[in-house]
Amino acid sequence: MAGTLYLVGTPIGNLGDLSPRGAEVLGNVDFIAAEDTRVTVKLLSHLGIKKELVSYHEHNRQQRGPQILERLLAGESCALCSDAGMPCISDPGEELVRLCGEQGVPVLSVPGPTAAMTALALSGLPTGRFAFEGFLSVKKSSREEHLASLKGEQRTLIFYEAPHKLPATLRDLHRVLGDRNIALCRELTKLYEEVYRTTLAQAAAYYEEHPPRGEFVLVVEGASSGEEAQAVSREEALALVERLCAEGMSLSTAAREAARLTGHKKGDLYRAAALGEK
Ligand code: SAM
Repeated sequence: MAGTLYLVGTPIGNLGDLSPRGAEVLGNVDFIAAEDTRVTVKLLSHLGIKKELVSYHEHNRQQRGPQILERLLAGESCALCSDAGMPCISDPGEELVRLCGEQGVPVLSVPGPTAAMTALALSGLPTGRFAFEGFLSVKKSSREEHLASLKGEQRTLIFYEAPHKLPATLRDLHRVLGDRNIALCRELTKLYEEVYRTTLAQAAAYYEEHPPRGEFVLVVEGASSGEEAQAVSREEALALVERLCAEGMSLSTAAREAARLTGHKKGDLYRAAALGEK
């Protein structure tokens, strides 16, 4: 009989947030698959647990996933842990869960904190409907596509961001989404936890002057219904076609992609771009 894969949520800062059940599972499984074994060893030594650890991260998941699956199929149990928060949420794991599903290996949740939900609750922005957007790409064309696709999104938006990229991200969010309310949730559950509720314009200006430190989740107000109607202008859609072509796409593919993302007609974008309209 196959063993079980446990998805164990670990603290995002405060070690007291590991659940008693999380600690019990970590103590009882045959082995732990960890994003960074050094980080998980620290958590285990805090708990007084000694356990076999194998590394499972972005760069080895293709070889390591099938090896973990094989051990599960042979009857061993495994806990999957990321460096912080829930595995599979902007962290490795979704592929392993899929493999287990395909092979009939049971997967159980041992939920813990996740930065996105913690920030949403603290933001003071509408929580009824939201869209988790993870990290924006650093690649210019994917980033622009992602941002353009969000312009008319009415749900509250949640982003993860690294501190050194925060000023550029705030500038881009302000440029594309216009001025909106934002809650910048920093160092959640840690000593210097802080929520800065402001607007995109003010946040962008503030972090030009004050270098950001620590970990951030950005919670941004969704578009108003009026904004949705005139979401992306024709000019912006044409600029997107131009950028996609500059990245190496054919004009036809770029026009189709820009049409899909902006709601403008492919034929119109294609013709206008072919004529060099801006
Ligand atoms: N799996 C994690 C989760 O469930 O939240 C997320 C991992 S992702 C690689 C790391 C990002 O999560 C950070 O760049 C930051 O945006 C956010 N994050 C993690 N811990 C945080 C904290 N204590 N305070 C604020 N943001 C945090």
